[in-house]
Amino acid sequence: MKGPPITIRCECGETKDVAYGQRWLCDVCHRSWNTNQIPAEEYEGLLRRVRRHKLEALAAAALSAAVFVPLIVVVNSGFIALIPAVMALWLFVFLPLWRRRYRRTARNAPRWELHPE
Ligand SMILES: [Zn+2]
Repeated sequence: MKGPPITIRCECGETKDVAYGQRWLCDVCHRSWNTNQIPAEEYEGLLRRVRRHKLEALAAAALSAAVFVPLIVVVNSGFIALIPAVMALWLFVFLPLWRRRYRRTARNAPRWELHPE
């Protein structure tokens, strides 16, 4: 299970995205940074929030499919005409809302103070 990358900002100003648990040796000043200094439970909290957002998007997609496929197949193929409206709703209402929430989570992502090794 791969989590979101952690952006390390070196004391010299270099930045780098690394996966949790990895080390990074700064190319410029050769300080060594270790993301293992981040407490696992704090990183997992972040993972949980990111995962919940992804689940929300999946659930919404599954829900619309669960509503529309039976309507079209069982009830009336005329419901196909509603699909563009549903797609528009998805694109212009749900996605922007979801992105805004996702960005808020990203913005509120915790910051950790690491120490070069
Ligand atoms: Zn550096």
